[in-house]
Amino acid sequence: MGGVVELIRPAGVTLGPDEGLSVRRTLPMRRRSLIGGWCFLDHFGPQSLRDGPGMSVAPHPHTGLQTASWLFAGEVEHRDSAGHHALVRPGELNLMTAGRGISHSEMSTSGAEQLHGVQLWIALPDSARFMEPAFEHFAPPVIERDGLRARVFLGSLLGASSPVATHSRLVGAELLLDAGTTVHLDVDSAFEHGVLLDTGALALNGTGVPLHHLGYVAPGTSTLTLHAPQQSRVLLIGGEPLGEQIVMWWNFIGRSHDEIVRYREQWQQENLTGSTDPVDHPVFGWPEGEAQAPILAPELPPVRLKSRA
Ligand code: MN
Repeated sequence: MGGVVELIRPAGVTLGPDEGLSVRRTLPMRRRSLIGGWCFLDHFGPQSLRDGPGMSVAPHPHTGLQTASWLFAGEVEHRDSAGHHALVRPGELNLMTAGRGISHSEMSTSGAEQLHGVQLWIALPDSARFMEPAFEHFAPPVIERDGLRARVFLGSLLGASSPVATHSRLVGAELLLDAGTTVHLDVDSAFEHGVLLDTGALALNGTGVPLHHLGYVAPGTSTLTLHAPQQSRVLLIGGEPLGEQIVMWWNFIGRSHDEIVRYREQWQQENLTGSTDPVDHPVFGWPEGEAQAPILAPELPPVRLKSRA
């Protein structure tokens, strides 16, 4: 049946102005910080834009990571300081590489009535974490099998491969299963995996995964068995264990407390005056055409930040 499944229950978190968007966070958690390079998983919606603002995140920084936005419904406008302006749409990967430092904003558009999807972060390995910022878009073809439709947006699965290069070995896919479908997925046994249940019902390797939970399977498994008693949508993530100690705080990933302190001080220094002049943003930059005030960093906790692995 494949490897033993550890269940990760989502934590409720609110984001944005007036805490208008509720998200279900399954990474990082106390017991598990990473699945391969994947280090952050926020799952949101479906939220009607009549009931809330949807995604409304003013300019904020990132370092040492990539953000992967994947929507099931809705539309989000992305602007970043590396000059990218894009619409994030359902079934299309938008992968932003922060590398040495970037700033971006993410706003729901009026072009959709709902918002439903995930935002993931990927920790960059030491060899890539100071790279120049970048942005990639990929709309994967739909792979059809009996009772299954899959979109493989990163890595390889079901004979399909994403052309988007990664800096550690990863896989990411959305799977839609018809009621009564059982699939046996051949996966890389060097990878650890997480399967998030978005809608419907799921047994993973024979273990029931409650709605909105993440089922985790350790490396050493070459088959994942998914059974959907009803029509279901799941997100599959996986990767080779990163094997590096990272320090994550707010929107930054580094390798030490002191590195995070420097990132925070740099962001505050560039943004305390509210200037949108690029000259005042030498490290993180400013998204062109963005008129919203930036989000300043919170205070650091009164203890040294600890690394996670
Ligand atoms: Mn962000």
